Amino acid sequence: MLAKSSTELVRQKNSVLVLTALRRHGPLAHTELSDFTRLSSATVSVITADLERAQIIEKAEQQAASGRGRPRVLFSQRRDCGYLIVVIISSDAVQYSLVDYAGRLIDRFTEERPQEVSGVGSFVAALREALDRIVARSRLSRDKVLMISISSKGLVDASEPILRWSPIFGRDEIDFAAVLREDWPAKVILGNETLLVAAAVGRQEENARGAGFRALAALSLGHSIGLGIVRRGAEGDHQISAPNFGHMLHLPGGGLCRCGARGCIEAYAGFYAILRSAFDVPLDTIPAKFVPISELDKIATSARQGNRRNILAFRQAGLALGNGLSRMLSLHESMPIAITGPGARYYDLLLEGISEGLAESHVVRMEGMPELRVIVDEQTLVFEGHLNRALSIIDNDIVRRGASVAELRDEAV
Ligand SMILES: [Zn+2]
Repeated sequence: MLAKSSTELVRQKNSVLVLTALRRHGPLAHTELSDFTRLSSATVSVITADLERAQIIEKAEQQAASGRGRPRVLFSQRRDCGYLIVVIISSDAVQYSLVDYAGRLIDRFTEERPQEVSGVGSFVAALREALDRIVARSRLSRDKVLMISISSKGLVDASEPILRWSPIFGRDEIDFAAVLREDWPAKVILGNETLLVAAAVGRQEENARGAGFRALAALSLGHSIGLGIVRRGAEGDHQISAPNFGHMLHLPGGGLCRCGARGCIEAYAGFYAILRSAFDVPLDTIPAKFVPISELDKIATSARQGNRRNILAFRQAGLALGNGLSRMLSLHESMPIAITGPGARYYDLLLEGISEGLAESHVVRMEGMPELRVIVDEQTLVFEGHLNRALSIIDNDIVRRGASVAELRDEAV
């Protein structure tokens, strides 16, 4: 069959609507599905029957809270329809999580990443070994895993799961699909960490504010600096981008950055940069590969006790961030800024510089300070972002795959 019939396409679209409603609202009754998807009751019946038959969703009876009356029948994803592995690569560790199709966490472990051995080869070997271990621990076969969703800081290819540049491996690229293809039939996707954070914060904001949500930026502070922007499109869709904010120019010819350029925002606001100015180390000193957070904590404690040099180190970092944010707001529109990442715990010390950096711009003088808020738990946001993105792709793939199976069956008849 060359072209899918239009009824088949409509059916696929409706199936995705039903699966999306279940993702966003949890188990739903027939009438709720009809409300959320705006599909007719009859269509919901057809679609849910299809999805049940394909073993993608199931229904369960739930006794009414009063314990009386007819039990409600709720639809939900079948947990064993397939599995997802989430791999979060950070500067000092890699976290592996196994999740079922309903989005429930089954198993998780974290492996420290040795700082001295940082080659791509040894990293890939450890990745392969850990992926094998996480399915073995739950006695799953590899082919039950539908997707491996990986995130890292750095520059991610727009269409392929290729890490183009990262603070950890520099310009040594990793093509994750090529690396895992031999052993894993699963689809492999790669996301920029801050983009996933922005996606998760955007979803939360929309849940809280509904259609009043327009745009939001998530600024991640740590060893490197990331920024994600989420904007609500005309059709209620979310457009998410992660510009290369940390390596935007702050000061021409300024401090040496880990990327090799000079004067980047990160070279003033990254952990290594704060350390550098606190110890008055020359700005052209090659940045430390990794700075333990305990070092930053010491500088912060002494700043809070009134140490002027350390106060200045944080203020200077804040200023670079504030200037960068004001440029970002000038290019887009004013929007709330959620500050997260391990560096968010120094918000009290950074705020003065951030406000000053923001206040210098025309857009802020015209429209006022953007709302700033702190979300300390970035790890949860990264994980949520993974689930939102990966499960929605899985839902689409599953519906399409189910449709082609049905087509083959129809053709055979
Ligand atoms: Zn840079």
